[in-house]
Amino acid sequence: MSTLTIEKLTVGYGDGAPVLDGLELEVPDGGVVALLGANGAGKTTLLRSLLGLVPVRGGRVLLDGADLTRLSTEDRVRRGLALVPEGRSVVAELTVAENLRLGALWRHRGPAREAAVGQMYELFEPLARRRDAAGHTLSGGERQMLALARALVGEPDVLLLDEPSLGLAPLVVAQLLGVLRDQAEATGLTVLLAEQNVTGALSVADRGVVLSLGEVVADRPAAELAADPALRHAYLGF
Ligand code: ATP
Repeated sequence: MSTLTIEKLTVGYGDGAPVLDGLELEVPDGGVVALLGANGAGKTTLLRSLLGLVPVRGGRVLLDGADLTRLSTEDRVRRGLALVPEGRSVVAELTVAENLRLGALWRHRGPAREAAVGQMYELFEPLARRRDAAGHTLSGGERQMLALARALVGEPDVLLLDEPSLGLAPLVVAQLLGVLRDQAEATGLTVLLAEQNVTGALSVADRGVVLSLGEVVADRPAAELAADPALRHAYLGF
């Protein structure tokens, strides 16, 4: 089980007004939740605060009822959280295979590590073809696949993703989002997916959550949210 519960979370930078103000959210075990909202709504801040990368002023983050709020980032990762930050971060000097082995480093050793890496090549065929290519030679889509595969190979229970589809071709976006959906169904991976690509995110999500001014202003089944033009217009700008 890996249900992520966020209770009354308040987060801000320096002495500034809070960016998240008493935010309440639950991401159920094996569910895919799309985190939507305009630029500056606080999506990145929320994902970073779940990993302990931004200091929390109040509230709690729970994983299956266990309080993570005071844990270090390293301990949160050991408990099963993983973040794919915005910007397709991979190690540019290392090959695809080396990046993946790095992602599997603390989970597996020896043949089990190679088997875990091999599974990623099955999920992402373009990476198999480029396994000996250095990170800096990859296309944008390949880099994003590698960033996602590097997180998945560490076998997280909860995967947090910050705008994985940004700047990518529609076909690549469909492939990436499809893998997330399949992993949630096949392995029970819990996914919180921050996206500006509202249509794409809602097409693979169970629920959609809209953030505005640091609060959740809508939390609905994805299909219902996608079909609500008034809500889309008010908070998502289209
Ligand atoms: P985007 O889609 O543009 O990434 P977002 O929804 O992810 O937007 P955040 O990046 O979390 O939003 O930003 C929320 C607010 O917090 C913005 O007003 C932003 O200016 C502010 N902010 C973000 N990072 C910092 C920081 N390091 N220091 C001060 N303010 C910050």
